[in-house]
Amino acid sequence: MTSPTCRELLSSHACAHSPWAPFVLARGQGSWVWDTDGRRYLDFATGIGVNALGHAHPDVVAAIVDQASQLSHTSNLYAHEPYAQLCARLCELSFGERVFLCSSGTEAIEAALKAALRFFVSQKRPRHHFVGTEGSFHGRTLGALSVTGQPAYRAGYEPVLGASTFVPFGDIEAMRAAVSPRTAAVVVEPVQGNGGVVVAPPGYLAALRQICDAHGALLVFDEVQTGIGRCGAWFAHQNAGIEPDIMALAKAVGGGLPLGAAVLTAPVAAALTAGTHGTTFGGNALACRAGLATLETIAREELLGHALRLGEAFTRRMSASAEVLECRGQGAMLGVQVRNPKAVRRACQDAGLLVTTAGPDVVRVLPPLNATLEEMEQACDILDHVLTSQTETSEAESHL
Ligand SMILES: *Cc1c(COP(=O)(O)O)cnc(C)c1O
Repeated sequence: MTSPTCRELLSSHACAHSPWAPFVLARGQGSWVWDTDGRRYLDFATGIGVNALGHAHPDVVAAIVDQASQLSHTSNLYAHEPYAQLCARLCELSFGERVFLCSSGTEAIEAALKAALRFFVSQKRPRHHFVGTEGSFHGRTLGALSVTGQPAYRAGYEPVLGASTFVPFGDIEAMRAAVSPRTAAVVVEPVQGNGGVVVAPPGYLAALRQICDAHGALLVFDEVQTGIGRCGAWFAHQNAGIEPDIMALAKAVGGGLPLGAAVLTAPVAAALTAGTHGTTFGGNALACRAGLATLETIAREELLGHALRLGEAFTRRMSASAEVLECRGQGAMLGVQVRNPKAVRRACQDAGLLVTTAGPDVVRVLPPLNATLEEMEQACDILDHVLTSQTETSEAESHL
């Protein structure tokens, strides 16, 4: 009797939450991955923006191996050096003065929401109201869902937690009308990722800062996807020249290992006193070392500037395509609005390029920040070819 295949085991034993691709990945190197049949793909899905340095970057591998051979996990009861180093580094790179480490994006948002609630409790004037934006995505815990403005993710879990108000992303006047002295925090992605790579209009983030200040509300930026160089700055809000009170990080921050972070100003962090929040895995030593190696590599290889060049190359190519309704993005967080994103994603996959979809009509492209410009051209060749042949096919069908 032959032992069951990976796909057989998944279909009989794994929760059916994920629409697995029709192949199984075996290994990766740089911007490329190979499946178990030896087929090669250019990986511009990067595990949904997690693999900022592609696969098996030697410095990240070395850091993980070194740390694993010494100390992998201690819990928050016992300190270790990589935890302290990572908190310090994230503060050095941002507005942050204190950092809470966890294991995922949804937990980073959860920590941000809890910190905001605690902040007002500690001032003896509790606030419970949050304002989010339509089309946003902040994660899958009930807390994160309570500020996620997409009905599809909330269905079956309503009323989630408490009352949040949702306003259209980018609409300053709607935000001004929604925020009041009851509002604990406004929670916004500087560039909506899952919602379809939607870049905030110029002046939007600065207006949010001003609106929050006018009502004493906290401003939370969800930089889970936009952070760690993706948008051509360490954090996307730095492109707008303003600072939030809290920033949520995950995805690329752990160099491929599960890691999240809530980065806080000192006054907000002061409300999260010992015992008010915690996690067993958060800031695990292996994840912190992988994260530190990732940050170091991004700085040393000057990948913030390179992210901008990758984005320019993509935009130059794809905005020239007649099939693309709109080409958008910031830095290396990219998307093309097309008529049938799911079919485009599948056809790209068949042609050897991995990308994801986002929102109702966008193919999202998240190259490794260290992808070469040649690799970007190859990706554009495939995408361009797929878009052109799809249009030809649908035109041929419409003539039948
Ligand atoms: C992916 C994502 C999350 C959720 O992160 P998980 O690690 O899946 O919990 C939250 N916010 C944004 C902007 C994201 O892109």
